[in-house]
Amino acid sequence: MKYEVVIGLEVHAQLLTESKLFCGCSTKFGSEPNTQVCQVCLGMPGVLPVLNKKAVEFAIKMALAVNCRVNNKSVFARKNYFYPDLPKGYQISQYNEPLAELGYLDIDTNGGKRIGITRIHMEEDAGKLLHGERPEDVNYSFVDLNRTGVPLIEIVSEPDMRSSDEAQAYLKALRDIVVYLEICSGNMEEGSFRCDANVSIRPVGAEKLGTKAELKNMNSFKYVKEAIEYEIERQIDLVESGGKVLQETRLFDASKGVTASMRSKEEAHDYRYFPEPDLLPLLVEDALVEKLRGELPELPQQKRDRFIKEYGIPPYDAGVLTSSKELAHYYEAVVRATNEPKVSSNWVMGELLRLLKEDSRDVKDCPVKPDSIASLIQMVKGGEISGKMAKEVFEEMYKTGKGPKEVVQSKGMAQISNEDELSKIIDNVISGNPENLARYKAGRVQLFGFFVGETMKATKGQANPQVINKLLKEKLDGK
Ligand code: ADP
Ligand code: ZN
Ligand code: MG
Repeated sequence: MKYEVVIGLEVHAQLLTESKLFCGCSTKFGSEPNTQVCQVCLGMPGVLPVLNKKAVEFAIKMALAVNCRVNNKSVFARKNYFYPDLPKGYQISQYNEPLAELGYLDIDTNGGKRIGITRIHMEEDAGKLLHGERPEDVNYSFVDLNRTGVPLIEIVSEPDMRSSDEAQAYLKALRDIVVYLEICSGNMEEGSFRCDANVSIRPVGAEKLGTKAELKNMNSFKYVKEAIEYEIERQIDLVESGGKVLQETRLFDASKGVTASMRSKEEAHDYRYFPEPDLLPLLVEDALVEKLRGELPELPQQKRDRFIKEYGIPPYDAGVLTSSKELAHYYEAVVRATNEPKVSSNWVMGELLRLLKEDSRDVKDCPVKPDSIASLIQMVKGGEISGKMAKEVFEEMYKTGKGPKEVVQSKGMAQISNEDELSKIIDNVISGNPENLARYKAGRVQLFGFFVGETMKATKGQANPQVINKLLKEKLDGK
Protein backbone atom coordinates (compact mmCIF):
# COMPACT_ATOMS: atom_id res chain seq x y z
CA MET A 1 0.00 0.00 0.00
CA LYS A 2 1.41 3.34 -1.11
CA TYR A 3 -1.37 5.34 0.50
CA GLU A 4 -2.63 5.89 3.99
CA VAL A 5 -6.36 6.35 4.47
CA VAL A 6 -7.59 9.14 6.76
CA ILE A 7 -11.18 9.25 8.00
CA GLY A 8 -13.06 11.61 10.31
CA LEU A 9 -16.75 11.20 11.11
CA GLU A 10 -19.47 13.74 11.80
CA VAL A 11 -22.33 11.97 13.53
CA HIS A 12 -25.79 13.39 14.12
CA ALA A 13 -27.91 11.87 16.86
CA GLN A 14 -31.54 12.88 17.37
CA LEU A 15 -32.25 13.37 21.04
CA LEU A 16 -35.17 11.49 22.56
CA THR A 17 -36.90 14.48 24.06
CA GLU A 18 -40.68 14.69 23.81
CA SER A 19 -40.66 18.21 22.45
CA LYS A 20 -38.46 20.07 19.97
CA LEU A 21 -35.32 22.05 20.77
CA PHE A 22 -36.88 25.52 20.83
CA CYS A 23 -40.66 25.01 20.97
CA GLY A 24 -43.25 22.70 22.51
CA CYS A 25 -44.06 20.71 19.33
CA SER A 26 -43.95 16.93 19.58
CA THR A 27 -40.97 15.03 18.16
CA LYS A 28 -42.94 11.84 17.53
CA PHE A 29 -41.78 9.96 14.42
CA GLY A 30 -44.11 8.97 11.60
CA SER A 31 -47.09 11.29 12.16
CA GLU A 32 -49.10 12.85 9.32
CA PRO A 33 -46.89 15.43 7.58
CA ASN A 34 -46.95 18.97 8.99
CA THR A 35 -49.07 18.14 12.02
CA GLN A 36 -46.30 18.81 14.55
CA VAL A 37 -45.38 22.37 13.71
CA CYS A 38 -45.89 25.85 15.18
CA GLN A 39 -44.90 29.43 14.50
CA VAL A 40 -41.52 28.92 16.17
CA CYS A 41 -40.31 25.89 14.23
CA LEU A 42 -41.85 27.29 11.03
CA GLY A 43 -39.74 30.41 11.50
CA MET A 44 -42.54 32.99 11.40
CA PRO A 45 -41.36 36.56 11.92
CA GLY A 46 -41.31 37.80 15.47
CA VAL A 47 -41.34 34.48 17.32
CA LEU A 48 -38.77 33.61 19.96
CA PRO A 49 -37.06 30.26 20.58
CA VAL A 50 -36.93 28.84 24.12
CA LEU A 51 -34.23 26.25 24.82
CA ASN A 52 -35.29 22.72 25.88
CA LYS A 53 -33.53 21.90 29.15
CA LYS A 54 -33.85 18.14 28.73
CA ALA A 55 -32.03 18.36 25.40
CA VAL A 56 -29.16 20.18 27.08
CA GLU A 57 -28.97 17.51 29.79
CA PHE A 58 -28.94 14.72 27.22
CA ALA A 59 -26.17 16.44 25.28
CA ILE A 60 -24.10 16.86 28.46
CA LYS A 61 -24.53 13.18 29.31
CA MET A 62 -23.16 12.25 25.91
CA ALA A 63 -20.28 14.65 26.34
CA LEU A 64 -19.38 13.05 29.66
CA ALA A 65 -19.73 9.52 28.29
CA VAL A 66 -17.07 10.26 25.67
CA ASN A 67 -14.75 12.09 28.04
CA CYS A 68 -15.34 15.61 26.76
CA ARG A 69 -14.84 18.84 28.63
CA VAL A 70 -18.23 20.50 29.05
CA ASN A 71 -17.92 24.23 28.54
CA ASN A 72 -19.51 26.44 31.18
CA LYS A 73 -20.48 28.79 28.42
CA SER A 74 -21.49 27.93 24.90
CA VAL A 75 -23.16 30.00 22.24
CA PHE A 76 -25.89 29.24 19.72
CA ALA A 77 -25.20 30.53 16.24
CA ARG A 78 -27.15 30.97 13.06
CA LYS A 79 -25.94 28.94 10.13
CA ASN A 80 -27.45 30.61 7.11
CA TYR A 81 -28.44 28.73 4.01
CA PHE A 82 -31.51 28.28 1.88
CA TYR A 83 -33.22 24.97 1.38
CA PRO A 84 -36.92 24.11 1.02
CA ASP A 85 -36.83 21.99 4.18
CA LEU A 86 -35.53 24.96 6.19
CA PRO A 87 -38.28 27.57 6.30
CA LYS A 88 -36.34 29.99 8.52
CA GLY A 89 -33.49 30.27 6.02
CA TYR A 90 -31.05 29.43 8.80
CA GLN A 91 -30.39 26.61 11.22
CA ILE A 92 -29.71 27.30 14.89
CA SER A 93 -26.48 25.47 15.68
CA GLN A 94 -23.33 26.12 17.63
CA TYR A 95 -20.14 27.26 15.98
CA ASN A 96 -16.93 28.46 17.60
CA GLU A 97 -18.17 28.02 21.17
CA PRO A 98 -19.70 24.53 21.27
CA LEU A 99 -21.17 22.77 24.31
CA ALA A 100 -18.31 20.31 24.69
CA GLU A 101 -14.81 19.63 23.35
CA LEU A 102 -11.69 17.48 23.60
CA GLY A 103 -13.04 14.03 24.25
CA TYR A 104 -12.14 10.57 23.05
CA LEU A 105 -13.54 7.12 22.53
CA ASP A 106 -11.59 3.87 22.64
CA ILE A 107 -12.42 1.27 20.02
CA ASP A 108 -11.13 -2.28 20.04
CA THR A 109 -10.10 -2.98 16.45
CA ASN A 110 -6.55 -4.37 16.14
CA GLY A 111 -5.89 -4.47 19.85
CA GLY A 112 -7.43 -1.12 20.69
CA LYS A 113 -7.18 2.45 19.55
CA ARG A 114 -8.17 5.86 20.86
CA ILE A 115 -10.20 8.11 18.54
CA GLY A 116 -10.21 11.79 19.41
CA ILE A 117 -13.49 13.66 19.60
CA THR A 118 -13.09 17.26 18.57
CA ARG A 119 -16.41 18.63 19.73
CA ILE A 120 -20.05 17.98 20.48
CA HIS A 121 -22.51 20.72 19.70
CA MET A 122 -26.27 21.09 19.77
CA GLU A 123 -28.41 22.06 16.83
CA GLU A 124 -31.87 21.75 15.38
CA ASP A 125 -32.81 19.33 12.63
CA ALA A 126 -34.28 20.42 9.30
CA GLY A 127 -37.51 19.12 7.72
CA LYS A 128 -37.78 16.39 5.18
CA LEU A 129 -38.41 16.49 1.44
CA LEU A 130 -40.44 13.72 -0.14
CA HIS A 131 -39.97 13.28 -3.85
CA GLY A 132 -42.91 11.67 -5.65
CA GLU A 133 -43.19 8.63 -3.42
CA ARG A 134 -46.65 7.61 -4.64
CA PRO A 135 -47.18 6.84 -8.34
CA GLU A 136 -49.66 9.73 -8.73
CA ASP A 137 -47.07 12.11 -7.26
CA VAL A 138 -44.15 11.43 -9.60
CA ASN A 139 -44.12 15.03 -10.78
CA TYR A 140 -44.24 16.55 -7.31
CA SER A 141 -42.05 17.11 -4.31
CA PHE A 142 -43.47 17.59 -0.83
CA VAL A 143 -42.18 19.23 2.31
CA ASP A 144 -42.81 17.69 5.73
CA LEU A 145 -41.74 20.02 8.51
CA ASN A 146 -42.50 17.72 11.45
CA ARG A 147 -38.78 17.14 11.92
CA THR A 148 -37.92 20.84 11.76
CA GLY A 149 -36.50 21.86 15.10
CA VAL A 150 -36.03 18.36 16.53
CA PRO A 151 -32.94 18.44 18.79
CA LEU A 152 -29.70 16.96 17.50
CA ILE A 153 -26.22 16.63 18.80
CA GLU A 154 -23.39 16.55 16.32
CA ILE A 155 -20.34 14.60 17.39
CA VAL A 156 -17.27 15.50 15.37
CA SER A 157 -14.26 13.21 15.47
CA GLU A 158 -10.62 13.97 14.82
CA PRO A 159 -9.31 12.53 11.53
CA ASP A 160 -7.96 9.58 13.50
CA MET A 161 -9.39 6.57 11.71
CA ARG A 162 -7.29 4.68 9.19
CA SER A 163 -9.67 2.13 7.68
CA SER A 164 -13.34 1.48 7.03
CA ASP A 165 -13.24 -1.10 9.83
CA GLU A 166 -12.08 1.48 12.33
CA ALA A 167 -14.75 3.90 11.16
CA GLN A 168 -17.40 1.24 11.54
CA ALA A 169 -16.16 0.23 14.98
CA TYR A 170 -16.14 3.85 16.13
CA LEU A 171 -19.65 4.43 14.81
CA LYS A 172 -20.96 1.27 16.47
CA ALA A 173 -19.37 2.20 19.78
CA LEU A 174 -20.93 5.66 19.59
CA ARG A 175 -24.33 4.20 18.79
CA ASP A 176 -24.11 1.75 21.68
CA ILE A 177 -23.40 4.65 24.00
CA VAL A 178 -26.31 6.87 22.93
CA VAL A 179 -28.65 3.89 23.23
CA TYR A 180 -27.29 2.92 26.67
CA LEU A 181 -27.72 6.53 27.78
CA GLU A 182 -31.30 6.43 26.46
CA ILE A 183 -30.80 9.79 24.78
CA CYS A 184 -31.27 8.57 21.18
CA SER A 185 -33.01 5.60 19.58
CA GLY A 186 -29.94 4.87 17.47
CA ASN A 187 -32.23 3.99 14.57
CA MET A 188 -30.22 4.55 11.40
CA GLU A 189 -33.02 3.63 9.01
CA GLU A 190 -35.31 6.30 10.43
CA GLY A 191 -32.39 8.73 10.30
CA SER A 192 -32.28 9.22 14.07
CA PHE A 193 -28.59 8.36 14.04
CA ARG A 194 -26.69 9.39 10.92
CA CYS A 195 -23.16 9.82 9.84
CA ASP A 196 -21.15 11.82 7.33
CA ALA A 197 -17.77 10.31 6.58
CA ASN A 198 -14.83 12.49 5.56
CA VAL A 199 -12.33 10.46 3.59
CA SER A 200 -8.92 11.32 2.20
CA ILE A 201 -5.72 9.55 1.26
CA ARG A 202 -2.08 10.60 1.50
CA PRO A 203 1.20 8.95 0.55
CA VAL A 204 2.44 6.76 3.39
CA GLY A 205 4.73 8.83 5.59
CA ALA A 206 3.31 12.17 4.46
CA GLU A 207 2.54 14.71 7.15
CA LYS A 208 -0.01 16.84 5.34
CA LEU A 209 -3.57 15.57 5.06
CA GLY A 210 -4.95 14.97 1.59
CA THR A 211 -8.05 16.72 0.25
CA LYS A 212 -11.13 15.08 1.68
CA ALA A 213 -14.45 14.13 0.19
CA GLU A 214 -17.48 14.12 2.47
CA LEU A 215 -19.82 11.15 2.06
CA LYS A 216 -23.50 11.44 2.91
CA ASN A 217 -26.60 9.30 2.81
CA MET A 218 -25.45 6.11 4.48
CA ASN A 219 -28.22 4.68 6.63
CA SER A 220 -26.66 1.46 7.88
CA PHE A 221 -23.32 0.31 9.26
CA LYS A 222 -22.89 -1.84 6.20
CA TYR A 223 -23.35 1.10 3.84
CA VAL A 224 -20.92 3.25 5.80
CA LYS A 225 -18.26 0.61 5.28
CA GLU A 226 -19.12 0.06 1.62
CA ALA A 227 -19.19 3.77 0.84
CA ILE A 228 -15.83 4.40 2.49
CA GLU A 229 -14.25 1.46 0.71
CA TYR A 230 -15.56 2.56 -2.65
CA GLU A 231 -14.35 6.08 -1.98
CA ILE A 232 -10.84 4.95 -1.04
CA GLU A 233 -10.56 2.99 -4.29
CA ARG A 234 -11.89 5.92 -6.27
CA GLN A 235 -9.40 8.37 -4.78
CA ILE A 236 -6.46 6.02 -5.26
CA ASP A 237 -7.40 5.38 -8.91
CA LEU A 238 -7.83 9.10 -9.45
CA VAL A 239 -4.47 10.03 -7.97
CA GLU A 240 -2.69 7.13 -9.69
CA SER A 241 -3.99 8.29 -13.05
CA GLY A 242 -2.67 11.78 -12.48
CA GLY A 243 -5.89 13.38 -11.25
CA LYS A 244 -6.66 15.34 -8.09
CA VAL A 245 -9.23 14.70 -5.38
CA LEU A 246 -11.68 17.60 -5.18
CA GLN A 247 -13.14 18.86 -1.94
CA GLU A 248 -16.77 17.94 -2.41
CA THR A 249 -19.83 16.32 -0.95
CA ARG A 250 -20.65 12.93 -2.43
CA LEU A 251 -23.77 10.82 -2.08
CA PHE A 252 -23.64 7.08 -1.61
CA ASP A 253 -25.93 5.10 -3.89
CA ALA A 254 -26.56 1.86 -2.02
CA SER A 255 -28.14 0.08 -5.00
CA LYS A 256 -25.04 0.63 -7.13
CA GLY A 257 -22.49 0.64 -4.30
CA VAL A 258 -20.88 3.86 -5.58
CA THR A 259 -20.48 7.44 -4.42
CA ALA A 260 -21.30 10.28 -6.81
CA SER A 261 -20.61 13.97 -6.60
CA MET A 262 -23.50 15.99 -5.17
CA ARG A 263 -22.00 19.46 -4.84
CA SER A 264 -18.67 21.12 -4.30
CA LYS A 265 -18.23 21.46 -0.55
CA GLU A 266 -19.07 24.85 0.86
CA GLU A 267 -16.65 26.51 3.26
CA ALA A 268 -17.66 27.50 6.78
CA HIS A 269 -17.51 31.21 5.89
CA ASP A 270 -20.15 30.65 3.20
CA TYR A 271 -22.67 30.14 5.98
CA ARG A 272 -22.09 33.57 7.50
CA TYR A 273 -22.34 32.20 11.02
CA PHE A 274 -23.19 34.77 13.69
CA PRO A 275 -24.37 34.46 17.31
CA GLU A 276 -28.10 33.77 17.51
CA PRO A 277 -29.54 37.11 18.70
CA ASP A 278 -32.72 35.52 20.07
CA LEU A 279 -30.94 33.25 22.56
CA LEU A 280 -28.69 34.06 25.48
CA PRO A 281 -25.41 32.17 25.75
CA LEU A 282 -25.94 28.75 27.32
CA LEU A 283 -24.44 28.72 30.81
CA VAL A 284 -23.87 25.30 32.36
CA GLU A 285 -22.86 25.17 36.00
CA ASP A 286 -20.41 22.57 37.27
CA ALA A 287 -23.04 21.41 39.75
CA LEU A 288 -25.32 20.36 36.89
CA VAL A 289 -22.46 18.59 35.12
CA GLU A 290 -21.59 16.67 38.28
CA LYS A 291 -25.22 15.80 38.93
CA LEU A 292 -25.50 14.36 35.41
CA ARG A 293 -22.19 12.54 35.75
CA GLY A 294 -23.66 10.82 38.79
CA GLU A 295 -26.64 9.72 36.74
CA LEU A 296 -24.61 8.04 33.99
CA PRO A 297 -25.38 4.34 33.71
CA GLU A 298 -22.67 1.74 33.37
CA LEU A 299 -21.52 2.23 29.76
CA PRO A 300 -21.02 -0.56 27.21
CA GLN A 301 -17.25 -0.68 27.55
CA GLN A 302 -17.32 -0.68 31.34
CA LYS A 303 -19.93 -3.40 31.32
CA ARG A 304 -17.88 -5.48 28.88
CA ASP A 305 -14.76 -5.14 31.02
CA ARG A 306 -16.70 -6.03 34.16
CA PHE A 307 -18.21 -9.12 32.52
CA ILE A 308 -14.75 -10.33 31.54
CA LYS A 309 -13.40 -9.78 35.02
CA GLU A 310 -16.35 -10.74 37.15
CA TYR A 311 -17.58 -13.73 35.16
CA GLY A 312 -14.33 -14.84 33.57
CA ILE A 313 -15.95 -15.11 30.13
CA PRO A 314 -14.02 -14.49 26.88
CA PRO A 315 -13.98 -10.93 25.53
CA TYR A 316 -15.96 -12.09 22.52
CA ASP A 317 -18.80 -13.34 24.74
CA ALA A 318 -18.69 -10.17 26.82
CA GLY A 319 -18.95 -8.07 23.66
CA VAL A 320 -22.00 -9.92 22.36
CA LEU A 321 -23.72 -10.02 25.74
CA THR A 322 -23.32 -6.27 26.30
CA SER A 323 -24.44 -5.30 22.80
CA SER A 324 -27.64 -4.11 24.44
CA LYS A 325 -28.51 -3.23 28.01
CA GLU A 326 -31.49 -5.59 27.93
CA LEU A 327 -29.43 -8.56 26.77
CA ALA A 328 -26.79 -7.88 29.41
CA HIS A 329 -29.50 -7.67 32.02
CA TYR A 330 -30.98 -10.95 30.83
CA TYR A 331 -27.61 -12.70 30.95
CA GLU A 332 -26.89 -11.47 34.44
CA ALA A 333 -30.24 -12.79 35.65
CA VAL A 334 -29.37 -16.24 34.25
CA VAL A 335 -25.93 -16.19 35.89
CA ARG A 336 -27.39 -15.16 39.23
CA ALA A 337 -29.63 -18.20 39.14
CA THR A 338 -27.07 -20.73 37.86
CA ASN A 339 -23.73 -19.45 39.06
CA GLU A 340 -22.39 -20.84 35.77
CA PRO A 341 -21.14 -17.83 33.78
CA LYS A 342 -19.72 -19.61 30.75
CA VAL A 343 -22.49 -22.17 30.36
CA SER A 344 -25.03 -19.37 30.73
CA SER A 345 -23.20 -17.34 28.12
CA ASN A 346 -23.26 -20.28 25.71
CA TRP A 347 -27.02 -20.59 26.09
CA VAL A 348 -27.84 -16.90 25.86
CA MET A 349 -25.40 -16.14 23.06
CA GLY A 350 -26.00 -19.36 21.20
CA GLU A 351 -29.46 -20.86 21.34
CA LEU A 352 -31.37 -17.83 22.60
CA LEU A 353 -29.92 -15.27 20.21
CA ARG A 354 -30.24 -17.71 17.32
CA LEU A 355 -33.97 -18.17 17.90
CA LEU A 356 -34.56 -14.46 18.55
CA LYS A 357 -32.77 -13.59 15.34
CA GLU A 358 -34.75 -16.16 13.35
CA ASP A 359 -38.02 -14.36 14.06
CA SER A 360 -36.43 -10.90 14.42
CA ARG A 361 -37.55 -10.56 17.98
CA ASP A 362 -36.02 -8.35 20.61
CA VAL A 363 -34.81 -9.83 23.87
CA LYS A 364 -37.39 -7.57 25.56
CA ASP A 365 -40.12 -9.72 24.04
CA CYS A 366 -38.40 -13.03 24.64
CA PRO A 367 -40.90 -15.77 25.54
CA VAL A 368 -38.34 -17.63 27.68
CA LYS A 369 -37.61 -15.96 31.00
CA PRO A 370 -34.09 -16.01 32.48
CA ASP A 371 -35.25 -18.28 35.31
CA SER A 372 -36.43 -20.87 32.80
CA ILE A 373 -33.08 -21.02 31.01
CA ALA A 374 -31.45 -21.26 34.41
CA SER A 375 -33.59 -24.29 35.39
CA LEU A 376 -32.78 -25.91 32.07
CA ILE A 377 -29.07 -25.45 32.72
CA GLN A 378 -29.50 -26.96 36.20
CA MET A 379 -31.34 -29.96 34.73
CA VAL A 380 -28.44 -30.68 32.37
CA LYS A 381 -25.99 -30.29 35.18
CA GLY A 382 -27.98 -32.63 37.41
CA GLY A 383 -28.12 -35.27 34.68
CA GLU A 384 -31.89 -35.07 34.27
CA ILE A 385 -31.52 -34.46 30.55
CA SER A 386 -28.57 -34.59 28.15
CA GLY A 387 -27.10 -31.49 26.53
CA LYS A 388 -28.48 -32.61 23.20
CA MET A 389 -31.98 -33.08 24.53
CA ALA A 390 -31.74 -29.72 26.25
CA LYS A 391 -31.54 -27.97 22.89
CA GLU A 392 -34.75 -29.63 21.80
CA VAL A 393 -36.39 -28.78 25.10
CA PHE A 394 -35.25 -25.19 24.70
CA GLU A 395 -36.81 -24.81 21.26
CA GLU A 396 -40.08 -26.08 22.68
CA MET A 397 -39.81 -23.66 25.61
CA TYR A 398 -39.26 -20.84 23.14
CA LYS A 399 -42.23 -21.90 21.00
CA THR A 400 -44.68 -22.47 23.84
CA GLY A 401 -43.42 -20.30 26.68
CA LYS A 402 -43.50 -23.38 28.95
CA GLY A 403 -40.87 -24.12 31.61
CA PRO A 404 -38.28 -26.89 31.04
CA LYS A 405 -39.76 -29.35 33.55
CA GLU A 406 -43.15 -29.09 31.93
CA VAL A 407 -41.71 -29.61 28.43
CA VAL A 408 -39.65 -32.61 29.49
CA GLN A 409 -42.66 -34.18 31.14
CA SER A 410 -45.12 -33.55 28.34
CA LYS A 411 -42.67 -34.86 25.75
CA GLY A 412 -41.52 -37.79 27.87
CA MET A 413 -37.94 -36.69 27.34
CA ALA A 414 -36.48 -37.23 30.76
CA GLN A 415 -33.05 -38.79 30.76
CA ILE A 416 -32.86 -42.27 32.28
CA SER A 417 -30.25 -42.25 34.99
CA ASN A 418 -31.81 -44.83 37.22
CA GLU A 419 -29.29 -47.67 37.57
CA ASP A 420 -31.79 -50.48 38.18
CA GLU A 421 -33.78 -49.51 35.14
CA LEU A 422 -30.73 -49.19 32.92
CA SER A 423 -29.22 -52.37 34.30
CA LYS A 424 -32.17 -54.39 33.02
CA ILE A 425 -31.99 -52.80 29.60
CA ILE A 426 -28.25 -53.48 29.37
CA ASP A 427 -28.73 -57.11 30.39
CA ASN A 428 -31.15 -57.49 27.50
CA VAL A 429 -28.71 -55.85 25.09
CA ILE A 430 -25.89 -58.18 26.18
CA SER A 431 -27.93 -61.37 26.08
CA GLY A 432 -29.33 -60.37 22.68
CA ASN A 433 -25.81 -60.16 21.17
CA PRO A 434 -23.93 -63.31 22.20
CA GLU A 435 -21.52 -63.25 19.21
CA ASN A 436 -20.33 -59.72 19.87
CA LEU A 437 -20.06 -60.54 23.54
CA ALA A 438 -17.78 -63.48 22.73
CA ARG A 439 -15.64 -61.31 20.43
CA TYR A 440 -15.41 -58.63 23.08
CA LYS A 441 -14.30 -61.16 25.68
CA ALA A 442 -11.71 -62.43 23.18
CA GLY A 443 -10.12 -58.99 23.06
CA ARG A 444 -12.06 -56.85 20.54
CA VAL A 445 -12.39 -54.01 23.08
CA GLN A 446 -13.57 -51.55 20.40
CA LEU A 447 -16.92 -53.36 20.64
CA PHE A 448 -17.58 -51.49 23.88
CA GLY A 449 -18.97 -48.66 21.73
CA PHE A 450 -21.32 -51.11 20.03
CA PHE A 451 -22.92 -51.96 23.38
CA VAL A 452 -23.21 -48.29 24.31
CA GLY A 453 -24.91 -47.61 20.98
CA GLU A 454 -27.35 -50.50 21.35
CA THR A 455 -28.31 -49.35 24.82
CA MET A 456 -28.89 -45.81 23.53
CA LYS A 457 -31.05 -47.22 20.74
CA ALA A 458 -33.05 -49.27 23.19
CA THR A 459 -33.76 -46.13 25.26
CA LYS A 460 -34.39 -43.85 22.27
CA GLY A 461 -31.36 -41.79 23.21
CA GLN A 462 -32.60 -41.03 26.67
CA ALA A 463 -30.09 -43.03 28.70
CA ASN A 464 -27.53 -41.12 30.69
CA PRO A 465 -24.22 -41.89 28.92
CA GLN A 466 -22.18 -41.78 32.12
CA VAL A 467 -24.39 -44.34 33.80
CA ILE A 468 -24.31 -46.62 30.73
CA ASN A 469 -20.52 -46.50 30.72
CA LYS A 470 -20.29 -47.35 34.35
CA LEU A 471 -22.76 -50.24 34.15
CA LEU A 472 -21.26 -51.69 30.97
CA LYS A 473 -17.79 -51.68 32.52
CA GLU A 474 -19.12 -53.57 35.49
CA LYS A 475 -20.98 -56.09 33.38
CA LEU A 476 -18.45 -56.65 30.59
CA ASP A 477 -15.18 -56.24 32.43
CA GLY A 478 -16.31 -57.22 35.89
CA LYS A 479 -15.02 -53.85 37.15
P1 ADP B 1 -15.33 21.13 7.41
O1 ADP B 1 -15.14 22.53 7.86
O2 ADP B 1 -15.06 20.92 5.97
O3 ADP B 1 -16.61 20.52 7.88
P2 ADP B 1 -13.81 20.16 9.59
O4 ADP B 1 -12.42 20.59 9.82
O5 ADP B 1 -14.90 20.72 10.44
O6 ADP B 1 -14.15 20.32 8.08
O7 ADP B 1 -13.84 18.59 9.74
C1 ADP B 1 -14.98 17.87 9.53
C2 ADP B 1 -14.65 16.41 9.73
O8 ADP B 1 -13.74 15.99 8.73
C3 ADP B 1 -13.98 16.08 11.05
O9 ADP B 1 -14.51 14.86 11.52
C4 ADP B 1 -12.53 15.93 10.71
O10 ADP B 1 -11.88 15.00 11.53
C5 ADP B 1 -12.59 15.39 9.29
N1 ADP B 1 -11.45 15.78 8.46
C6 ADP B 1 -10.87 16.99 8.37
N2 ADP B 1 -9.88 16.95 7.46
C7 ADP B 1 -9.83 15.69 6.96
C8 ADP B 1 -9.04 15.04 5.98
N3 ADP B 1 -8.10 15.68 5.30
N4 ADP B 1 -9.29 13.74 5.74
C9 ADP B 1 -10.26 13.08 6.38
N5 ADP B 1 -11.03 13.64 7.32
C10 ADP B 1 -10.83 14.95 7.60
ZN1 ZN C 1 -42.92 24.08 16.94
MG1 MG D 1 -17.56 20.72 9.87
